[in-house]
Amino acid sequence: MKGDSFRKVGVVYAVECKGCGKVYVGQTGLSVEARMEKHVENLEKREVHSTLVDHVRTLKHTVNCDEPNVFTFEKHERKRKIKETLLTKKLHALAFNEISFKTLLFGMKEEEEEYPAFRLPFSIG
Ligand SMILES: [Zn+2]
Repeated sequence: MKGDSFRKVGVVYAVECKGCGKVYVGQTGLSVEARMEKHVENLEKREVHSTLVDHVRTLKHTVNCDEPNVFTFEKHERKRKIKETLLTKKLHALAFNEISFKTLLFGMKEEEEEYPAFRLPFSIG
């Protein structure tokens, strides 16, 4: 890794998986250089679990932490998470990460949404 962009803090980045060609989109308040070191460190620790670590271990793939792609710089955490989410959605099926900012729909977070139970006004049989 080289250049100032790897040392600038507050980043939305993506790393490519060499095993399947999919990408992991992440965001960090650290520099991308520091975040890559952390990813590498986590991959070596048995007790650590994350989407990236589990992908690598379960599928026996390797991710290219030596050549991360920096998409944008953003110091504001919430804005960074929104940008990470938008990038993940844009990459759609190519990304294997989870998104950290859930879209608000109908005033509820996605994971809290419940479909109404359909109840028939009469019983059958
Ligand atoms: Zn993979």
